[in-house]
Amino acid sequence: MSVAADVALSWLIEGNNDYIIAEKNHHGDISPKRRVHTHKHGQNPFAVIITCSDSRVIPENIFMKGIGDLFVIRLAGNVIGDFALGSIEYAVEHLDCKLVVVMGHTMCGAISAAIDKDHHGYIGTITKEIKKAIGTEMNPTLASKKNVRNTIDKILESDVIKAKLNMGVEVIGSIYHTHSGHVEFLI
Ligand SMILES: [Zn+2]
Repeated sequence: MSVAADVALSWLIEGNNDYIIAEKNHHGDISPKRRVHTHKHGQNPFAVIITCSDSRVIPENIFMKGIGDLFVIRLAGNVIGDFALGSIEYAVEHLDCKLVVVMGHTMCGAISAAIDKDHHGYIGTITKEIKKAIGTEMNPTLASKKNVRNTIDKILESDVIKAKLNMGVEVIGSIYHTHSGHVEFLI
């Protein structure tokens, strides 16, 4: 069963509030019962999260969600290309996810690397993409927000996603604050 975008967003906000105040067990339902249930009946995630590979940014924990709840795509600097876009299209078209959240974060190494200098190899592929998004912005948090916007714009170039926008699908941005645990939704 599909979950409306506004309901999905309220579940994320509620989970993030629990994450900030809870002292332990920063996770949703990861019980054997849930595992077996999702194995038998398949996955039914209610949101797609596109975020950074940074080890401090753990979507399932940040939103206190468990097995089968979130469809997550992680790449350094939350940049996306064809493979990631294909994953997002799959989640929206075949798993009926109505909410797509791009989540950047503070203290992002990929953002700092893009601000600092050019890089070689495939790291350079990532920083070049971020550089295009942030231009001359030197403030890392503002740069993260611009970079989130760029990823959203790329998602919205997908014909599959575009066609779903008037069918209840929403694509929104957010920033995870690594010191407080708070997710700031950019809406
Ligand atoms: Zn990062």
